[in-house]
Amino acid sequence: MTNLHFAVNGACQGMDSAVFFPGRGEKISDEAVKACGSCPCQAQCLDWAVQHESVGYWGGTSEKTRRAMRKHLKIRLVSPSMMAELWDREWWLDERVRAS
Ligand code: SF4
Repeated sequence: MTNLHFAVNGACQGMDSAVFFPGRGEKISDEAVKACGSCPCQAQCLDWAVQHESVGYWGGTSEKTRRAMRKHLKIRLVSPSMMAELWDREWWLDERVRAS
């Protein structure tokens, strides 16, 4: 999963995103748990989040749960901003190949 396109069909569309980002020490809201629990994109969202999201409640999982999953599955977190840098680099390399 390399992008967030699945999210347009997510149950969280139109909801206040703050619901999915509890503050430090705050409990995950029932609203977020309910949305993810009934979301048609939950599997894709979790796949994305395990690989790319260190903060927030995604795909029915907390930050702590995803950390444990990454450790268990030996997955390295690649943040979306790091991915953007990689995409930029790929584009730059492609341009150099085209120019040569
Ligand atoms: S699983 Fe949760 S966070 Fe992910 S798209 Fe669905 S409602 Fe949104």
